[in-house]
Amino acid sequence: MELSCCPHTVLTHMASTILVVEDEPAIAELVAVNLSFAGHKVLRAADSIQADTLIRAELPDLILLDWMLPGMSGVNYAKKLRTDERTRDVPIIMLTARSQEGDKVEGLESGADDYMTKPFSPRELIARIKAVMRRRAPQLTDDTVEIAGLKLDPQTHRVSGGGQALELGPTEFRLLHFFMTHPERVHSRSQLLDHVWGDHVFVEERTVDVHIRRLRQALTPTGHDRHVETVRGSGYRFTALPTESNS
Ligand code: CA
Repeated sequence: MELSCCPHTVLTHMASTILVVEDEPAIAELVAVNLSFAGHKVLRAADSIQADTLIRAELPDLILLDWMLPGMSGVNYAKKLRTDERTRDVPIIMLTARSQEGDKVEGLESGADDYMTKPFSPRELIARIKAVMRRRAPQLTDDTVEIAGLKLDPQTHRVSGGGQALELGPTEFRLLHFFMTHPERVHSRSQLLDHVWGDHVFVEERTVDVHIRRLRQALTPTGHDRHVETVRGSGYRFTALPTESNS
């Protein structure tokens, strides 16, 4: 097995919660150790039933899914995750010992974002995770985002509007980061809880409204509060071109 403990990886992106679904304890352990070392929070499941229980409590940012699992196979589980509204957008990387081209196609058709054949190096695993995250979950990377003069830098945790520094609390910062990496789309309160709080089980939906209010207050000095729109009956949207006042 090429997989070895603790490579010289560096923490190059924001901490993410990664669910590892793998029934072989030695591989699960090595993957978990390397992901933790890279700064991720790791959840572990040995089959789809355990994985479902963990997902109910906390939506992971990415799932590493073994192909050959006891009970429901990894491929069928990936298909199931893709049909569930809550897990539909969670990036999935399939892990498999097989290397045939036909299997690869089946793995990707099941809804997986990427595919890794065992054995793989921890360095390659971290790089693939980062690439998938950048594509599928840009709010989890540390790339600077800028929309309509509003600039957010995850590395320095700074936000500015037209060059003027703005003060945001940690939750408002994460909320704005998610909005700016997913602009022009309406997000329901429960979706925001999943993506910004990582959990919609133990937090009340009203909490979202409280932080939206604080976010708008923080953006008011440069007039960027207008970009955070309320969509009646649906949720909230960050837009580059505000159409109405939200006051
Ligand atoms: Ca297996």
